[in-house]
Amino acid sequence: MIPVSLVACPSYDPETVGTAAARAFDRAGGPDPAGRTVLLKPNLLNASDPDKAVTTHPEVLRAAIRLFRARGAARILVGESPGWQSAALVAGRTGTRAVAEEEGVEWADFSDTIIAEVPDGRVVKRFEVARAALEADLLVSLPKLKTHKLLFFTGASKNLFGIVPGLAKSRYHLRFPERREFGAMITDLVLAAKPAFALMDAVTGMEGPGPGNGTPRHLGWLLASRDCLALDWVAAGLIGYDPGDVPYLADARDRGLLVPGDIEVGDLDPDRERVPDFDRIRVPHDTDFFRARLPGFIHRLARNLTVDRPAFSDRRCVACAGCVKICPARALSFREGKRAPVVDYAACIRCYCCHEICPADAIKLVRRPW
Ligand code: SF4
Ligand code: SF4
Repeated sequence: MIPVSLVACPSYDPETVGTAAARAFDRAGGPDPAGRTVLLKPNLLNASDPDKAVTTHPEVLRAAIRLFRARGAARILVGESPGWQSAALVAGRTGTRAVAEEEGVEWADFSDTIIAEVPDGRVVKRFEVARAALEADLLVSLPKLKTHKLLFFTGASKNLFGIVPGLAKSRYHLRFPERREFGAMITDLVLAAKPAFALMDAVTGMEGPGPGNGTPRHLGWLLASRDCLALDWVAAGLIGYDPGDVPYLADARDRGLLVPGDIEVGDLDPDRERVPDFDRIRVPHDTDFFRARLPGFIHRLARNLTVDRPAFSDRRCVACAGCVKICPARALSFREGKRAPVVDYAACIRCYCCHEICPADAIKLVRRPW
């Protein structure tokens, strides 16, 4: 059986989180960190205040630091490579740097990279990843439970995408514009990174148009497991998804890396905790239908016509240029007389990276432009 713990954690009060994290760790049979180097990887998508629920709450990071230290870890590091903003800026705004300093742990330099080989990878055999993450004895994912426009849900496994350095992430979006292949890439990344444990911040999750511009929703849980995929399967189910609709979970199940029937959840009952009215991303099944029946270039055309596309608000845009920098298809540019970038819809691959990182909620995903 694969234990996944689901424990009550009603608030971010440090003592409450600390007690819940220890309970979640023990129930999940967490790894022995004695004498070992532990790399904690929170989700720090962008420079947001903790109460926006975009990033892992700093009190969950603090609880994880104390938990591994109390169990004898020799060295604890914290690391993340945000998509386009500097790690220093993001760590400061999210409260992560303050907690790391208060607790006396090091910030890992994720710009120093190494190649991780994945012989069993389905779509990727080699990843360039942060050396500190790969060489740590224990890599620990500290995700935030959120919706995700491209993958419908993001948790412990997708959080590992942050060990791929900065804008290199865009290359994978360009290479795998389809959900299914992008999901397989995430599964390959889990194989490459070999995370030892995950502790999920689901005290307050994000519903609506996540992962960057949704709405905080209080859930009151921490989840933990030695298996990131199993944890995500449980968490996606708790917010009302059929977990098999999440592309990387379906891929992992189909590859035999995840056996849902082997997952054992404690100590809360997931059937009682489920939140059926959680505002989820709609799961379209029509693109799979077209994909199976149409030649590639016609399918791409049909997909671009049928899936949501980004539309920019001149009024809300603060012209930070983040979306232009991160766009893997180079589909965005500034034009005279317009504050917000202009989209070349023929080039746009509908990866939604721009929507994910926009700090001003200036990008909506719609069938037609505003
Ligand atoms: S415009 Fe946005 S959705 Fe389109 S390719 Fe660029 S980042 Fe992706
Ligand atoms: S749309 Fe958003 S990300 Fe793009 S330039 Fe404007 S504020 Fe920045």
